[in-house]
Formats: sequence, C-alpha cells, structure tokens
Amino acid sequence: MKYILALLVIVAGCSVHHTKSPANLQYELSFEKTNNIHVKLTYKPVEMGSTLFTYGEPRFGGQPDIIRGLTDLKVSDGSRIMFNDISREITVFYKDSLPVTIEYNIIDTHTKEQGLRGELFRPIIMNDYVYCHGINLFLNPVLRNNKLNVSQSVEWKSLPPFKLFQSFDPQNNGSRISIGRPADFMYNLITGAEDMVTDEVDIEGNRNYLVMRIIKNKDLNRKAVAEYFKQYYTGISRFWNEPSPEPYCLILQPFLSIDHNIGGMGLGSGFAGKYSYKADTILTPERIFVLSHEIGHHWIGGKIDSDINDQWFGEGFNDYFTYYTLLMTGLMTPDQFERTFNTVLESHYTARIKSLPNDSIWPNYWKMGDYNKLPYRRGSIFAFFLDNQIRKLSNGGKNIRDLMLSIKNFCINKGVGYQLSINDFSQLASEFIPADTVKAEIDRYIVKGEPIIFSGEMLVDAFSVSMKDDVPILRITDKGKFESLFSTGN
Ligand SMILES: [Zn+2]
Repeated sequence: MKYILALLVIVAGCSVHHTKSPANLQYELSFEKTNNIHVKLTYKPVEMGSTLFTYGEPRFGGQPDIIRGLTDLKVSDGSRIMFNDISREITVFYKDSLPVTIEYNIIDTHTKEQGLRGELFRPIIMNDYVYCHGINLFLNPVLRNNKLNVSQSVEWKSLPPFKLFQSFDPQNNGSRISIGRPADFMYNLITGAEDMVTDEVDIEGNRNYLVMRIIKNKDLNRKAVAEYFKQYYTGISRFWNEPSPEPYCLILQPFLSIDHNIGGMGLGSGFAGKYSYKADTILTPERIFVLSHEIGHHWIGGKIDSDINDQWFGEGFNDYFTYYTLLMTGLMTPDQFERTFNTVLESHYTARIKSLPNDSIWPNYWKMGDYNKLPYRRGSIFAFFLDNQIRKLSNGGKNIRDLMLSIKNFCINKGVGYQLSINDFSQLASEFIPADTVKAEIDRYIVKGEPIIFSGEMLVDAFSVSMKDDVPILRITDKGKFESLFSTGN
C-alpha cells in the first residue's frame, strides 16, 4: 500500500538563521542555463593540513552511482585535492589556515529508467524545475574531531528564473543567506518551479508551509490539501500533547513521468512527496493515509527514534497511530478502519513469511514484496493488540496513547540520537501491563514473530473477532463506543 523509500527523519528542526558572520563552509550557488548548479565553496580550514569530505549517500534511496552527479571538481591554487569516486571521498590538502576555494557542478543524472528512485533521490535540474536534496548538493565534512562546532552558509549568486523553496529556511526564497550547521542542510530540499505555489498554513499561531505543484484541478486540490493539512496536523499535535506544534513543511509535486500513487521522504521538519502525474484528485483515502503516516514520522522516527531492525515499531506502530489520529480527526470513518484493518490482517495472516523472526526482516527488506510490508503489518496488529490490553486492564482509564507519551518523554530525556530499544519499550509498557506479561508478548509476537491468535476476550467490547481459515476477521460491534476510543485529544 505504501512505497516510501529509505525514509530519513532528522530532528534538526529549523535552526537555520541569517546572521552575517562568515561561516566555516560558505556556499555560493549559481543556477546555470546548461541544466546544472555551479557550486563555489569557500572553506576556512577547521583542522590542520587536510579535511575529508564525502559527497552523496548511496543508502539515500539506493543510489550507488550518485557520485556521477558531481563534475568539474577543482580547488584553488596552493591547495590540492584527492578525489575517490568509489568511496565518494574528497580530501582537500592545504598548507596554512587561509580559505580554500572548492568548485564543482551538480548535474541532472536522473533518467526515466531509474523510475521512482531517480525522481525522488537524484538532483533534477531543468529549465523550469529544480529538485535537489542537500545531501546531493553540499559536501559533508568528516572531521577528525567531531566535537568541533562548524558553521555553514548558503547563498544564491544566481537564482533560477522561477520561485524557489528551501526547506531548511522556509521563509527564504534564495534572496538571503542562510546559516546553520552542515547537518541542518543535508536532509532538506531545495525545490522550485514556475508553477509552484506556497501556502502558509497557520496552526495554533504557528506558520507552516504547504508547497505544491498541481497539474490538474488546481484550485480544488490546493484548497483540499490545505484543509487536510490543517485538520490533521492540529490533531496529531494534540495527540502528542504538543499544543504548539513546530513549523512543518509539506511539499507535494507530481512525478514527471511516473504513474505511481505516492512516494517520498521525511525532511528535517517536513515531508517531500511526489504523486502520480495522472492524478485528478490528490487526496484519495490512500494518499491521505500515506501523507498522514509520513507526518507521523515527525514523532515516531523523529522524536522517538529506534533501530532499523525495529521497524515493527518505527513503521508498524506509526501505522497504528496513523489510524488512531485519522479516526480522531474525522479523516477516517469507522467503516474505512474496519475495511482497511481487515485487509492488513488478511495480508499478514495469509503471507508465507508471516512468522519470520524480527531479526531476519531487515536483511531481506529490499527483496520487497511481503518482506518490506511485514514490519508495518506485524507492528500495527501488535499495537492494536496492546491498545486493547491496556484499555481492558485499566477499565478504559488508559490506552496506548499514554504509553506513547511516556515513551516520548523517555526519549526526550535521553537526548537527540538516542534509539529506543526493545528493552526500553517493554520496561515502559510495564507501567501499563504486568512486566512479565508484556515481556513474554514482545518475545513471542515480535522477536519470534508468531502471529497473534485473536479472541473476543482480548478486545474491548466495541469489537468482535472471528477466525476464518486462520485469518482473524474484525468487526466493529458498537460504532459509538468505537468512536469514543479514538476521541482522545486535549
Ligand atoms: Zn514510514
């Protein structure tokens, strides 16, 4: 149902600002008519003798040859450069601490044959359209002393002849300099097009950005997406007990030549997605689910990070809270939930690999098919199971949202970069479910991967469940009670 590739969510936030003090890495960008961006980097050495930089990241959308996008690399007189196009390493040697000038071009190497990945993860530089992630534009300094405080500035010397949006500095259309740390720019997007529209969406007094290219039904789609975004982002912020949500950028563009429902990736504080160029209506229920799941990664994956082997949590739990928050905001009906969740149950319980142990999922993930859907399904079904258990044990006084808020606080206290472990999870869950029970359940249903055999007693009385050919079939028996289950929100 979802084909989101290599999602990367960084909790960098919007720390980019506009002070004028010269940065260690000063970038000057020029859009050139020959379909490239010329980059001039003035580097004030922060380490003696040499500095190592890398370009691109093959894991970002599976682009082993991303280095082909960087050409004409040269360095100012008196310095020397060593370029390894296999490791993507660029070492700059210098004699003293005087600034070194490094220049290169970023060219458009995307082709139609690369399909989805080419359009999402490569720089696209055309006469009327630019789409380039920071990781594909800037060099990444790999310092011997990683505690050094390094600053970076980005300035356009020659802008493209159309509007520009920079997700690292949403208010700056390229007319001013942006300053931050190198990491603030890496997983953020520079994009622009003649027909791009930017709407500022006010939510609880905060400015958020909706940046769209729309081919069909422009006014209708623009209005509908703005309304959806406001409604959903307000709801999910309340779910996470954050009445004053951080500014968020939602970027939506049609694929240039791909009839694929939707795909994209998380940004520093936002999401950049592309939808089928054939779509008349952007907001189909399926695309609403995907967009909401992606916004959910601002929390699960962002504020609550977990290991790549624990996608049952990072993706599966995120899916469950997508249902939760869509129901809570009225963007999904009980009938839709019943239908969709039964499809998930059926797909999972009929999959040949349904009992694959957790540690065998990630090594097989890129085989795609059921392998990459397994953690979403297993995790969301387990979250549903836990939610029911917590509600029953507390006589309706608590639910899985309370557990998630406690997990969020735990991770915030641990600091940026901390990854929630299975042990942390089971410890925090034992505030709601007896420790031995929850530990055994995680071991059985997640680590070993055994499918849960559902029975009516396991569920709150808004549901009934029956098994048919070893597949659970869920029914909502009381719509009123069901709706009250997901009405949480302060
Ligand atoms: Zn996801």
